[in-house]
Amino acid sequence: MSDTIFHKIMRREIPADVVYEDENVIAFRDIAPQAPVHVLFVPKVDFATLNDVPEDDAVVIGRLATAAARYAKKEGFAENGYRIVMNCNADGGQTVFQIHLHLLAGAPLGRFGTPG
Ligand code: 5GP
Repeated sequence: MSDTIFHKIMRREIPADVVYEDENVIAFRDIAPQAPVHVLFVPKVDFATLNDVPEDDAVVIGRLATAAARYAKKEGFAENGYRIVMNCNADGGQTVFQIHLHLLAGAPLGRFGTPG
């Protein structure tokens, strides 16, 4: 079984500010927020990176995205807007190898994707 920091959060072995949870997804605030709202949506099935998700399990990714959108609506910033990001491997900047979606919101966000 994978054992990342996010698995420890899911098992409540280390604390996190959990904002949403259901049988498939847990969401908690990022410890180093990059925007006024920065929440991580993590599935309860183990996939280290997006590269590891087979077509048959695409619903796992869909659940993360729809959970993020529901959270945005509930918190009242869906109309203003937000960004969801999934980093993959070294060039993508991934540091925790359990897939997760970043939800960033709360202010106009800068452009992204430039090298460096
Ligand atoms: P990645 O770089 O893999 O896409 O994103 C990992 C994210 O996890 C980073 O934004 C980082 O700040 C966050 N993170 C790392 N360790 C912890 C932790 O112990 N608790 C929480 N809440 N977030 C963490």
